[in-house]
Amino acid sequence: MMKKLVRYLNPIAHLGEKKYSVTLPILATIIFAVLLEYYANEIVHDPDIVGIYAIIIPVALIIFCAFRYGIPGGVVVVFFTIIYYGYIIMSRDNPPEERLTQWETTGVLGAVYLLMAVIIGWLKQKIDDLIEREANERRRLTAILQQLPLGVVITDSNGVVVQSNKQVEVILGVKISAGLLAGRDMVVKTSQNGKELQPAQSPLAKVINTGKPIVGKELDIERPDGRKVYIQVSATPIHNRKGKIIAAVSIFSDITAQKDLEKRKDDFVNMASHELKTPITSMMLYIDSLLLQIKKYRDTRADKTLNSIKYQTIRLKELVSDLLDVSRLQTGKMNFNIEEFKLDSLVEETVDQLRGSMKVNRKLIFKSKKPVKVNGDKFRIYQVLTNLITNADKYSPGPTDILVSVTSREDKAVVSVQDYGIGIPRSQIPKVFDRLYQVTDDKEKTFPGLGMGLYISSQIIKRHRGQIWVESEKDKGSTFYFSLPLN
Ligand code: ADP
Repeated sequence: MMKKLVRYLNPIAHLGEKKYSVTLPILATIIFAVLLEYYANEIVHDPDIVGIYAIIIPVALIIFCAFRYGIPGGVVVVFFTIIYYGYIIMSRDNPPEERLTQWETTGVLGAVYLLMAVIIGWLKQKIDDLIEREANERRRLTAILQQLPLGVVITDSNGVVVQSNKQVEVILGVKISAGLLAGRDMVVKTSQNGKELQPAQSPLAKVINTGKPIVGKELDIERPDGRKVYIQVSATPIHNRKGKIIAAVSIFSDITAQKDLEKRKDDFVNMASHELKTPITSMMLYIDSLLLQIKKYRDTRADKTLNSIKYQTIRLKELVSDLLDVSRLQTGKMNFNIEEFKLDSLVEETVDQLRGSMKVNRKLIFKSKKPVKVNGDKFRIYQVLTNLITNADKYSPGPTDILVSVTSREDKAVVSVQDYGIGIPRSQIPKVFDRLYQVTDDKEKTFPGLGMGLYISSQIIKRHRGQIWVESEKDKGSTFYFSLPLN
């Protein structure tokens, strides 16, 4: 009961409510006036004693009521106080000139009280507005959060969870309740590329520690019910105006179905290319044997046809071998035979070997400054070189030169293949090393391919702890580079 009364009267407890009643302020002012009159006339028998109380108590009442009931609450207290002052002036027998000054004082006091009531009441109403706006904003955000098909977890700047939506539970199979601490509590077993993550490595903990956003990280989750799910997580810090982190949010989606489909597709490509390899090898053998057999008939037309078949079969074999490589890279099954070899010699031999197979009559020029030895898989590096040089040839329709060079810089060897062909539009440059990516434009149909070569090359170079990159300008040409660490 007492608690309820205190709560009812406590102005702070009602911030944000926007209920501005005047009943209590009116009652309180009347009760105050009656009590004060009673005290002065009946207890101390000195009507003038009211002076000091008649000012202090109304001021307190105005402050309280304006802060509890807004402008209306404050103003009615002022109104009834002024009426009471009028009653005091008229009920005491004072000389008329004194009354005049009393009325003047009342006027001034009334104006000051009114100003006070309006300012405090206005402040209170402004605070109410702000609180309500904030509460509405929160409600809106919560509604959006709950409707999202994504899991969302929000923490404060220390990593303590403050909010999460129901989708989190649907995906993870366990609730992330408010109060959990990112970086200390890990609700489900989480791994990345097969390695189990420690709580401090969780995306939210990392975002808070580094202040850098995390985009599209793929993680494997083992749910408490034993089911395995793949999720894709993005997390970002939220800064205040001064750039200080005030919160962090992590958003994730269940990509298990997509991953399963990808795996099935990879398995299929792997199986299909294995199955294709055998008949193609036999075909090559039969073609070679046929070529030998028809030699004695000196039939140039048949010879030409058979050679065309052989050429197309070689292309088919290369495609299948690329497909197999892509699938090996996807499943992490590409093996490397690492040995030390002379990179400049390998490049020179490759250039000499490819010189005869250029599509148009062009110069394929090799320049090397000095011998460089590297550690790596010679065959795979040869494969990268062949890919870059045949691409330079394929994407240079005119009889322009192709320049290949080997140089060494500090701790690495750099190989470059430069052409003066069609070039690559700036916007597409970052994507050319992606799997199955092909630059699209109006000339698209002129260049057959599947977009596997550069992906395979980039993965091979990455596994050698090297780098691969390209500088290119549309219609001017491209220079592809790769570097390998010098032992
Ligand atoms: P493919 O040549 O089979 O399409 P790649 O992975 O080798 O696949 O190349 C990917 C894309 O990069 C190509 O489709 C082509 O558009 C672009 N590209 C590669 N090399 C060059 C080059 N030297 N000049 C211009 N574009 C190139």
